[in-house]
Amino acid sequence: MTAKIVDGRQIAKEIRKEISDEVIKLKSKYKVTPTIVTIKIGKDPTSELYLRLRDNACEEAGIKSTHLEFDENVSENKVINVISKLNNDADIHGILIQYPVPKQISQDKLMSTIDPKKDVEGFNPYNMGRTLLSNECIVPCTPLSVLTILEYENVDLKGKDVVIVNHSNVVGKPLAALLLNRNATVSVCHVFSKDIKQYTTKADILITATGIPKLITKDHVKENAFVIDVGIIKTKDGVCGDVDFDSVKEKAGKITPVPGGVGPVTIACSLKNMIKTYKNCFEEI
Ligand code: NAP
Repeated sequence: MTAKIVDGRQIAKEIRKEISDEVIKLKSKYKVTPTIVTIKIGKDPTSELYLRLRDNACEEAGIKSTHLEFDENVSENKVINVISKLNNDADIHGILIQYPVPKQISQDKLMSTIDPKKDVEGFNPYNMGRTLLSNECIVPCTPLSVLTILEYENVDLKGKDVVIVNHSNVVGKPLAALLLNRNATVSVCHVFSKDIKQYTTKADILITATGIPKLITKDHVKENAFVIDVGIIKTKDGVCGDVDFDSVKEKAGKITPVPGGVGPVTIACSLKNMIKTYKNCFEEI
């Protein structure tokens, strides 16, 4: 059996259309254009493409996306002061930071400084805490993208065995909480896990985000499993994910491709979060 290939671009297109429609309604209600600011420190070529795609998606949705650029050597204090000003600026409805940031700056401090109401990426400890306490408000875009794909595919998570290969703050930890909130049985693997196959081969849903090309082979996958590949790796042959796609698609029930799977849905989910922070500036959500 060959797996159904889940078309992330199509899912993203549908979400972006919903967002555009909602922006039109909200603009006539609040009488201002949703405006977000991305703080960029130094140059990181790998995130430039993502930012460009996100800016295009914002423009299409009627969201104004602006950038504030800092030199690689900027001090932590200066960036924190700017974030504090943006927190108090009524014309700004969402704040994002381009990661990674240079060594002299603490990523944690920046995340904690952003007003939780304007925290498009959902990394502020308040928003993360709400996710952990099953009181979700703004959740990080990549885990939200995985959830959205599962919803579009009508997967009932209750009682499902889900394995996540990633325990980062950006992907694995918030995703585990979101899945637990929906009563899945969740295992989280990482580099120190003794034998990831003993977990992955039992997974009804296998989500991987290691950044290691072809780490997940058909021997890691249970027959008919739903395999979601979050990894994005640039190789000399183009972009690929963690999954050995050609072999795994012969065993899985459903699979997301790279490119064209989680990536475009993540951008669409970022727009969803921008709408949340925009609403947050006018009413309690
Ligand atoms: P990260 O912080 O480096 O996390 C990688 C995770 O994979 C860590 O938990 C790491 O464990 C684990 N890992 C690495 N090698 C492994 C192995 N051989 N066996 C088991 N676990 C292993 O990176 P990240 O920011 O979470 O991103 C991960 C990947 O997702 C990257 O390819 C990134 O480009 C992609 N990504 C995609 C999107 C999207 O929208 N599609 C969004 C964000 C990230 P240790 O920490 O113990 O080393």
